[in-house]
Formats: sequence, C-alpha cells, structure tokens
Amino acid sequence: MSKVSKKISAAPSWLGLTDDRLSFVFLPDRAETVRKIFELAIGGMGSYAIANYLDELKVPTFTRAINWDNTTIDSMLRNRATYGEHQPKSFAAGHKKGIPSGPPISGYYPAVVDKATFDAAQAARQQNLAHRGRKGNDLANIFGDLCSCAYCGSKVIFHRISNVQVLVCEQVLNDGACSRSAWTYKDFENTVLAFLAHPALLDQASYDLKAGLLDLVEEIKGLSSDEGRRYARRVNITVLLKRIVAGLLIHSAGNLSQPRHSSAQIRKDIAGRFLAIHLQEGPSYTCISIG
Ligand SMILES: [Zn+2]
Repeated sequence: MSKVSKKISAAPSWLGLTDDRLSFVFLPDRAETVRKIFELAIGGMGSYAIANYLDELKVPTFTRAINWDNTTIDSMLRNRATYGEHQPKSFAAGHKKGIPSGPPISGYYPAVVDKATFDAAQAARQQNLAHRGRKGNDLANIFGDLCSCAYCGSKVIFHRISNVQVLVCEQVLNDGACSRSAWTYKDFENTVLAFLAHPALLDQASYDLKAGLLDLVEEIKGLSSDEGRRYARRVNITVLLKRIVAGLLIHSAGNLSQPRHSSAQIRKDIAGRFLAIHLQEGPSYTCISIG
C-alpha cells in the first residue's frame, strides 16, 4: 500500500480506515465475502443469484441494509479497487461524478482479489449477460451450457413443453434434422447428481478433482437434509459442476445412430436414454437414466 499523506475521505465498503483516517484497514470477514462474490460470478452466477445466496446464508451486508442488493454486487465486481487499483479523479465544481485524472495507481488499496480473478469475473459476467439476460434464473438449469447433443453436436438447452421442464436439442426447437426427443429436466438432474455422488467415482478421481467432488457430494447430501439452505446449496453445486465437468453428451433417444427429422411431437424420456459425462482432465463415463 502506498503512503497516504492526507486524510482519506472514503474507503471502499469492504475496507476500513484507521482512526486518524491516514490508512486503510483490511477487514478479513468482508474480504472473504468479496472473494466469495467473485468466486460465484466466475462460476456463472448473476448478481441476483449472488444476492439471494448471501441473504439465505445471512451474510451481513457492508451497510446497514438487511438484504444484499444486486446493484451493489454488480458495482463491486466491476470495481478495480478490489485488486488494489485507484484511479485519481478530478471533480469539476458542482459535479459529483469525477473524471479520471492521471494514470491509475496500483497497490493503493489492500487487494482482496488478484488481477487474474478480477479479469476472470469480467469475462464470466460478459458471457452471463449474453446468455441469460440480466434477470435470468441461474438455477433453473444447474448445468448451464455444459450439455450438447450426441447426434448433431448442437447445444442441449432448457425448455418447457406443456409446462414440463425438459432438456432438448436446439436443432429440434429450430425444426432442424435431429431426433425429436427430450429428457425431463428433473430426471436428468437426479441422474447426473446420483452418478457424481457415487463413492466409486471418488475412488477413481484424480487428485485435482477429488477436493471438488468431495465438496459436491456434501452439497448434494445437504439438498435433502437441509431445506433452509437449498438455494445456497444449488448455487454451490452449479459452480462446482462447472469446475468438475467438462461436458455432458446427451443421447436422449437412446442408441439412435443417425439424426432424423420428423414433424412429429417431441417425445419425452425415451427408454434407454443415456449420457456421457466427461470430467475435467479425466475420463468419460456413460451413465443411464435412473428414472
Ligand atoms: Zn441434436
């Protein structure tokens, strides 16, 4: 941290000031909250989901507010002070919003995240905004964009067919050439989570994957035993899945070898449907529906 010779008027909300207002104070609890916010953003969570997550876990806000606000989280994620950078500004008379004056000063604030983490969060936010829109429900499909179609290679996306949530190939929705079949979302989620929580998988997992898998198993177990933290657990599972799973290749019509086009109704949950789970830096596994 650089020496600050004059009194500081304000600190970022996650830092404190010494009594003489000459230097910043690092607040470990708040720093930990900021790091969690970055971790969730990098895991694909939008600011609404992050706010709900912090509220459910009763993480104190940095103001007197009781609940977290998504705009606070958004501006924190964009704030370069999180990695210590300060942009001096000059203020024209009567204007509250300053204009940048001179080069940014690095190491001005105690950093709570590093620059690489900050950059990763910016990239994830851009992707998130492009895919879901601002208010999208990040938890309806915890697999995000990990799913693709075994027949045509298109993305398999979350969709509703007469009020039933399903996963279906994008080509099918566009009337393209692919099998007109869908996998009921709930059955798919149960199948994948049961597979990933199986003790045999942990035995085979590489050292790097083991820690993530152990966390995942814990969160999956908690889903049924700990109703009060269901939302936060689903957020954690979503973030962990992104870290553990490289891709899910879905055969929603079973052993069909050729994609085919038909104008028929989309059929749900065809017997013999299966998927291939490809783990990060690991092998692929074939997994059949448990439903
Ligand atoms: Zn397809």
